Amino acid sequence: MRACVLTATGGIDKLAIIDVPDASAPGAGEVRVRIRAAALNHLDLFVADGLPGGGTAERFPFVVGADGAGVVETVGPGVTNVQPADRVLINPGISDCTCEFCRAGEHSLCVNYRLLGEHLPGTMAELVTVPAQNVVRGPNLSPALTWAEAAAFSLVTLTAWRMLVTRAQLKAGETALIWGIGGGVSLTAMRIAKLVGARVIVTSSDDAKLAAAKQLGADVTLNHRTQQVAAEVRALTNKRGVDVVVENVGAATWDDSLRCLRRGGRLVTCGATSGPQVHLDLRRVFWHHWSILGSTMGNAAEYAEVVGRLAKGELRPVVDRVYPLDHARDAYERLARGEQLGKLVVELP
Ligand SMILES: [Zn+2]
Repeated sequence: MRACVLTATGGIDKLAIIDVPDASAPGAGEVRVRIRAAALNHLDLFVADGLPGGGTAERFPFVVGADGAGVVETVGPGVTNVQPADRVLINPGISDCTCEFCRAGEHSLCVNYRLLGEHLPGTMAELVTVPAQNVVRGPNLSPALTWAEAAAFSLVTLTAWRMLVTRAQLKAGETALIWGIGGGVSLTAMRIAKLVGARVIVTSSDDAKLAAAKQLGADVTLNHRTQQVAAEVRALTNKRGVDVVVENVGAATWDDSLRCLRRGGRLVTCGATSGPQVHLDLRRVFWHHWSILGSTMGNAAEYAEVVGRLAKGELRPVVDRVYPLDHARDAYERLARGEQLGKLVVELP
């Protein structure tokens, strides 16, 4: 099968479009999906660079890509939720369903949690084999969901939903600050925040992205290159600060995130694109009653919830650009330059 692979770790230059052996035939409880589109996430850049701990498998060539959508090609024994020819979305988080956290319904806390395209062969290939519990039939929408939209949906929507709704418990009437609105998680977080009735302040270094974010529902936009975000946020909230800060930038924004947070506020983080090491004065944490919340992906109930929202016409993904498989590296380069607003998608032949 044709696939976008890493031939080694060491960055985007190590990507190649080659023929590799087909994804394995589905075993019991598994399905093999013929991929129609795969979407990029910042994670894919980290995987290309080589994650510490080397999740990426020492098995090169390694098929990249966490997000994908396609048509069920074959089902293994015991599969009842889908059948061949079903059009499906793929939840890229694979859990063992047996550990104490899975039994409690918290699949993204699984002790054996693995992601497609990081720990397991990914979606940027003609075929991928996954547990049947990780696929769901795509909803019928009008206009119909495109393959690019379907591929762009799962990772960021699941991640942002758990961050805002489950972890930070953002409520109607509250204010959230969201950094870097061009990113997929940030943009989805903004739309979820609007869905729950919150006021949203978003940032970007790019005025064109801020204008687009305003069109998509942002209440206040701040250019973090030309404006002092903490001072602006304090002014906008009568020196009170925001109820929730959505972090995925890390080192570059952390201090300002805390300056923007109200007493008793919640900071929820799912990433550290600018670096993972930050300074934290514990006296400020306890004195201000802050909650610092980590979050990764989401559980099966949250995935069912976001797919249900999609079926209602909510949270339809924003696709930035679509590339043919042969130009997958161009998609990576646009992501690395941070030029996108929404999702970058690669379509399979
Ligand atoms: Zn588990």
